[in-house]
Amino acid sequence: MSSRQVTALVDLDAISSNFNLVRHHAPNSCAMAIMKADAYGHGAIRVAQSLPAADAFGVARVSEAVELREAGIGQPICLLEGVNDREELNLASIFELQVVIHDQSQLELLERSGARRKIWLKIDTGMGRLGFSPETVPEVLASLGKQTLLGVMTHLSEASDPSSTKTDLQLMRLQEVIGNLEQPGAKTLSIANSAGILGHAASLADWVRPGLMLYGATPFDDLKPMDELHPAMTFSAPVIAVHAVKAGESVGYGGIFTAAEDTRVAVIAAGYADGYPREIAQGAPILLHGERRKLVGNVSMDMICVELEPSDVVQPSDRAVLWGEGLAIEEIAALCGTIPYTLMTGVSSRVYRHYRVSN
Ligand SMILES: *Cc1c(COP(=O)(O)O)cnc(C)c1O
Repeated sequence: MSSRQVTALVDLDAISSNFNLVRHHAPNSCAMAIMKADAYGHGAIRVAQSLPAADAFGVARVSEAVELREAGIGQPICLLEGVNDREELNLASIFELQVVIHDQSQLELLERSGARRKIWLKIDTGMGRLGFSPETVPEVLASLGKQTLLGVMTHLSEASDPSSTKTDLQLMRLQEVIGNLEQPGAKTLSIANSAGILGHAASLADWVRPGLMLYGATPFDDLKPMDELHPAMTFSAPVIAVHAVKAGESVGYGGIFTAAEDTRVAVIAAGYADGYPREIAQGAPILLHGERRKLVGNVSMDMICVELEPSDVVQPSDRAVLWGEGLAIEEIAALCGTIPYTLMTGVSSRVYRHYRVSN
């Protein structure tokens, strides 16, 4: 690895062990590992290849599924938002993709094309986003024609908040809908995301759909790192300059940091174009030689600045950790008012992905 590169080092063993934790929490459920958004920024192909035990993979876009198939991934792949036109449906057929059906127009599309696919029926039990409303489900099921119903899927809207009763309400609504159904497939349920798996045992059902927890960050709103999860990504960048800043001088665009006394600053070659959040608070921690130092000044497109302690010996080509090993992504997310999901998926394409695997 060039010391000059901005790097997302991905620990594939951490992802495997997080997958094992899914099995531990949901021993009787099949697991659809969620690979959308390039496996939450970790690199979908390498991550999927490192999960031979996953029963299926889930993606948001057809292109994401095609990428996995072309890399030789043989497990079932599910399009979580289904297909929206003829071209996408053709690709779903060619690459043997499962499709979620969440809207009448998708059923009509399948019907018109004569295509026959394995489908998941999505029901809206309270997310208020995708899915058929519960009362229409019997009618929709009756109109499936020759499609193969794999199961019924719903998505939890407040599982990340342990104090919310919404998950129970959603589970109840789902039971009401499927309770009387006889169709093959209609009793196979897929409900839980990471927060459901880790926090709501009643949501486990036949299939679980872990995303964030595979990558080692907490799905819960308190943003407390969970000991049982292993963070998979370490985002780091090289120091490219170290310079003195005199008392009264400022650092970076807008001069939002002014040195109170003579100090030194290290310039790190990663900025918001790499995925480091510009919204982050002044003083946010950055690790240099394993020690926490403070971000000073505005985040630039390609650089950030860190104030050094008088005794620090830091020079160009030393590396700074922006989050990951030794610095929880949850802490960084809290300091910019967001969640680990946006930080992971925001690591841009110019950041070099590097993989670590023990065997
Ligand atoms: C993204 C997604 C998931 C995974 O959610 P996490 O919170 O990352 O575990 C599960 N199901 C659906 C439908 C999704 O879109």
